[in-house]
Amino acid sequence: MNPTNCPHCGATTNPLKLSLYSTGRSFRCSRCEKHSRFDRRTLATLGGFSALLGALLQGHFRFTGLTLAGVAAVATVALIAVMWLTLTLRPVETPNA
Ligand SMILES: [Zn+2]
Repeated sequence: MNPTNCPHCGATTNPLKLSLYSTGRSFRCSRCEKHSRFDRRTLATLGGFSALLGALLQGHFRFTGLTLAGVAAVATVALIAVMWLTLTLRPVETPNA
């Protein structure tokens, strides 16, 4: 596994910035300023899997209050890390963001 790279110039992307662009909007590379976006099918698979995992964990442990907030924060960081390591960006020539 390699960190997600810009498909135009190969620059390694910032995982925090990636997470902001993961839902619909295209990602803009900070080095070459060209646009790209995630493969929609991969993103849907990852989203479905994390929702299922979250539901299973919640059903088993029944997190409440602060524990739930803590677990959600950890899960979000873990999801961003997984996205950064597994997803690939596809070039977009005409951004609609
Ligand atoms: Zn680039």
